[in-house]
Amino acid sequence: MTVVEEQIKEALETLKQTGVRITPQRHAILEYLIEAMTHPTADDIYKALEGKFPNMSVATVYNNLRVFKEVGLVKELTYGDSSSRFDFVTSDHYHVICDSCGKIVDFSYPGLDEVEALAAHVTGFKINRHRMEIYGTCPECQKGAH
Ligand SMILES: [Zn+2]
Ligand SMILES: [Zn+2]
Repeated sequence: MTVVEEQIKEALETLKQTGVRITPQRHAILEYLIEAMTHPTADDIYKALEGKFPNMSVATVYNNLRVFKEVGLVKELTYGDSSSRFDFVTSDHYHVICDSCGKIVDFSYPGLDEVEALAAHVTGFKINRHRMEIYGTCPECQKGAH
């Protein structure tokens, strides 16, 4: 089994355990999220799957993403006024975002886990999470592909 297949299987297992019904649409959305790794918007997912599910609307995609978010399978990334992007939750990771095309690429940096302990120590806060984003120009945009 590939890593992707394994992640899909585990995700479906999580849905089953939380009593969420697995419809063909939910299965397809999950599969797309896991395979794409592009942090798609609800609209991206809709466009990728509308051929397969002609009766599906963007609202349906949104509702399904909300269900996944509630059970902790998916993270919603918000950027001011622009559409939310959705990320399948694997391990903690950070994002580097292209200023030109908006592409988001994952990378991990375990060293940053210490920042939470440091923040707690210095401020007396009980830390829940942290968020860091790096901005730059992706390899394709550096080549001036557009
Ligand atoms: Zn780019
Ligand atoms: Zn990510």
